[in-house]
Order: sequence, then structure tokens, then C-alpha cells
Amino acid sequence: MAVIGACERCGKQNCRIGGKNIFGKNLCTKCRIKGYIKLYIITLQKTKKPDAEEFKTIVKVSGLGMVIIGLIGFIITMIKQILFP
Ligand SMILES: [Zn+2]
Repeated sequence: MAVIGACERCGKQNCRIGGKNIFGKNLCTKCRIKGYIKLYIITLQKTKKPDAEEFKTIVKVSGLGMVIIGLIGFIITMIKQILFP
């Protein structure tokens, strides 16, 4: 769905508007791609590599989650096999 209009960032008139960005602005395709790249860079700048202690905690929590989901699946399978042999 290509709309002809003015880009809200570069102000270029009568250009093909690629769609809205995440902030709801009508932007040309070039400005949208630029915006996404900028967003990726900001995200990478704001995140940091976890230290060893933090990494261990993340692994423990993720592992616990996997175990819980596995247990739920196991229990459902058991109930199914008991009820519908
Ligand atoms: Zn633009």
C-alpha cells in the first residue's frame, strides 16, 4: 500500500511513503530504514554484556523455566495416557 505524501522526517514532498514507523509517523522508505538502524544502534549501546554472576542467574532461571514447562508437558502426557489408554 504505497501512499504519496510528505515524509514527516525529511519533509520530502510527493515521495512514496513506505508506511508508519513504530512511533506512528508517516515516513519515506529511506527514513524508515534509517530509523530502524538508529534503533538497533541505540539498543546495542544501552545493553551490556552480562558479568559471570549475572550470566549464572540467567542460566538458572531459564533452566528452571524449561524444567517447569517440561514437567507440565510430562504431567499432561501422563494424565492423557492414564485416562485414554
Ligand atoms: Zn523521509
